[in-house]
Amino acid sequence: MAKLTFENIGKSFDGVPALSDISTTIKDGEFVALLGPSGCGKSTLLRLMAGFDLPTTGQIRIGSDVVADAGTGRSVPPEARNIGFVFQSYALWPHMSVRRNISYPLEVRGLPRADRDAQVDAALEATALTPYGDRMPSDLSGGQRQRVALARCLVLDPTAVLLDEPLANLDVALRASMQEVFLDFHHRTKATMVYVTHDQSEAMAMADRIAVMDQGRILQIDTPEALYARPRSRFVAEFIGQGAVVPLVDTIENAAMVLGARVAVQSETATPTHACLRPENLTLGENGDLRVTVERATYLGGSYRLTLKTLCDHLLVAETRQRHTAGEQLGLSISNPWAFAA
Ligand code: ADP
Repeated sequence: MAKLTFENIGKSFDGVPALSDISTTIKDGEFVALLGPSGCGKSTLLRLMAGFDLPTTGQIRIGSDVVADAGTGRSVPPEARNIGFVFQSYALWPHMSVRRNISYPLEVRGLPRADRDAQVDAALEATALTPYGDRMPSDLSGGQRQRVALARCLVLDPTAVLLDEPLANLDVALRASMQEVFLDFHHRTKATMVYVTHDQSEAMAMADRIAVMDQGRILQIDTPEALYARPRSRFVAEFIGQGAVVPLVDTIENAAMVLGARVAVQSETATPTHACLRPENLTLGENGDLRVTVERATYLGGSYRLTLKTLCDHLLVAETRQRHTAGEQLGLSISNPWAFAA
């Protein structure tokens, strides 16, 4: 296991930048999700880690080993990086049984049969596949195939495991149970894991830290809680969780005019320009600081999510246990929102 370091990584295709200024470290044993909209560069970054592609600028290190360096042209080939992969397409060998799929990489490494068998048995057990060892991949469900791909990673004892949208082809119910399988895998192996997804809830449910990406850059890499509570940009505030970004006026010390109400704000910058209003920053009540109109009420089971329109046409999201209907006028108070320079 090892940490992964990226220093000033850039990648262009025919002069068009797909990644710029990526400088970050993924800690040994950490589970990091790369999260962002389609085309933001997640897969490209994963491919550079794997060694399938070379960066245009910068250096990548696994532990203290330089595996890619645009300056010198050095690039350690994928098979020498000892990295495991799990793709959404499973990439199993269709003509080999489950057992053979898992043991084949060990055969290539020249491991004696008895050692191979012992390791394959352990990997089958760790992924709850023991009864399926003799089946062919075509006789397995999507979730089972994905577990074979994980078992194959497990026997290789990789330095890191890279996963590219591994659940994208599975139905919603199976996704939740496969998230548990990945977490259990991480717990057992303590492997450094990098997980590409465009699904915020998947990243929140599994990752120690999430790197939020947009247009080839990492905008913020933080714990799910920190991204939600302390976003550093408008994009992160809007991409993670529910909420609305509104401008601040007349900011003095830790207070500002927010939608016409004087409100204490929290920030890590001296010159915040916008605040993120999460549902927990909003309280409905007759004596509120501002007037809003209910645009939409959605029942969540136990509570309602209200979309509220302010007098200056901002849409806010609040949650309440009380039933309200569209068109109703309500009072609203804002407390302690997080503010940043957008
Ligand atoms: P994501 O995984 O976030 O959806 P990608 O890393 O696949 O995004 O793509 C990032 C950008 O790089 C996109 O604009 C994509 O079109 C471009 N790109 C990726 N691979 C290639 C390639 N082999 N040739 C040309 N452009 C590419």
